[in-house]
Amino acid sequence: MTDFGIDKALKTLGVKAINKGTSTGLNNFSNGNVIESFSPVDGQLIGKVETTTHADYEKVMDAATSAFKAWRIMPAPQRGEIVRQFGEKLREKKEALGKLVSYEMGKSYQEGLGEVQEMIDICDFAVGLSRQLHGLTMHSERPGHRMYEQYHSLGVVGIISAFNFPVAVWAWNTALAWICGDVCIWKPSEKTPICGIACQNIAAEVFTENNLPEGISCLINGDYKVGEFVTKDVRVPLISATGSTRMGKIVAQEVAARLGKSLLELGGNNAIIVTPDADIKMTVIGAVFGAVGTAGQRCTSTRRLIIHDSIYNQVKNAITDAYKQLRIGNPLDENNHVGPLIDTDAVKMYETALEKVIEEGGNIIVEGAVLSGEGYESGCYVKPAIAEAKSHFKIVQHETFAPVLYLLKYTGDVENAIDIQNEVAQGLSSAIMTNNLREAERFLSVSGSDCGIANVNIGTSGAEIGGAFGGEKETGGGRESGSDAWKVYMRRQTNTINYTTELPLAQGIKFDL
Ligand code: NAD
Repeated sequence: MTDFGIDKALKTLGVKAINKGTSTGLNNFSNGNVIESFSPVDGQLIGKVETTTHADYEKVMDAATSAFKAWRIMPAPQRGEIVRQFGEKLREKKEALGKLVSYEMGKSYQEGLGEVQEMIDICDFAVGLSRQLHGLTMHSERPGHRMYEQYHSLGVVGIISAFNFPVAVWAWNTALAWICGDVCIWKPSEKTPICGIACQNIAAEVFTENNLPEGISCLINGDYKVGEFVTKDVRVPLISATGSTRMGKIVAQEVAARLGKSLLELGGNNAIIVTPDADIKMTVIGAVFGAVGTAGQRCTSTRRLIIHDSIYNQVKNAITDAYKQLRIGNPLDENNHVGPLIDTDAVKMYETALEKVIEEGGNIIVEGAVLSGEGYESGCYVKPAIAEAKSHFKIVQHETFAPVLYLLKYTGDVENAIDIQNEVAQGLSSAIMTNNLREAERFLSVSGSDCGIANVNIGTSGAEIGGAFGGEKETGGGRESGSDAWKVYMRRQTNTINYTTELPLAQGIKFDL
């Protein structure tokens, strides 16, 4: 892979052949088994990462809790300055990190760069926010009293992330948590551990340069069992977990059992409604990018197109024509549109989905296939497929993390399309393509889309960091990133101050002694 500059990128990011998987700057760890990270691009070994043992985890927790005591008393704008420096470091290393994201996860180099840009954007957002962590003041019912709310740092935040956004999701959480005065312990996906090492190296540089403890940013590595170290730990008041709904249901119960807080970002089953008033050209671009971008492995990927019967054939033909132009291959080569799936297990899930849609009576109109031969040696490259299906099919109701697009037909009013759109268990992203103001507003109204994200004349995939990001129902209800998402990383306190010489009780209660 030297032709695509991977070796140079790994060197820039301080990644070695064998990496300590537990907070690189903290020494003397026992370290457990080793995870080998193979690239889905060419099947080559990128590097090895030592996993975290429970004894290691206890040392990490000691480092995090002691760092928290120093970090929380640093004024928030000064913490913002550290996040600003972290954003600058990311700008310097953007190409190298974007390349690693592409090579370890399999998304295109452009999307890898886009992911690092999201990290930079959330840092900029967090820097501004570090001067605006505001509470409300309200009038007291008692004379000579002042009442207000303030937000305090929460403590150690546990971040569990998925393979498909191996760096940005961590940054969304950590940039906000840091300016809020929290410290973080991050367990990246075991499928993309090298990205975690690279990020930790970048963060550690910033903390070392500022004589701050690296415990502000801690890394642990391993599979779900290592994730459980944090989910079960009462010293971790907030768990932010991104991944499958299956994982979220387990984590939510673990955290609730100890009355901790959880912020869940789980699976989606996103649809675009295409009405008779849609701009077909825009629809095709939005739908094709949404369905095949990141090889269908975005939580916001378009999985269902709900098309009005009057334009069904027109849309179907335009999309199938567009699929003929897709180039599948090495994602580091900018000529290709579609890269590999993360691993061969994901390929099996893709094949199963195509079998199931046929079993349930669907009609495949763009055939799928697993590609082999030169350039496809990793066994992870598949052809994006399209199937005509019915909304109630079990496979359509399920999130298959692969480039399989279902075409569904609706008749009559836009309400019928909205009903189909809301029929699934997940509630992440949704979109309507229409130039009809009434249809657009119905879609956005209280009886419209039930998702956390509802777009008009934009596809389902991707989001800006300025808005709160997340979804309802089985997507977990969490909100990350912009808007007031920061509040979940803090604890709220109501303060009442009496500046009189009397002690009046609230609600006019008398207690004469
Ligand atoms: P996954 O659920 O298999 O794994 C995600 C993370 O959870 C990994 O780090 C894993 O080790 C950890 N984990 C699994 N079980 C755990 C347990 N019992 N306790 C603690 N940790 C545990 O998901 P994946 O395959 O890596 O990612 C794909 C899924 O993530 C898709 O469903 C996708 O929609 C979802 N996702 C959602 C968002 C969002 O913002 N809503 C963003 C990205 C990905």
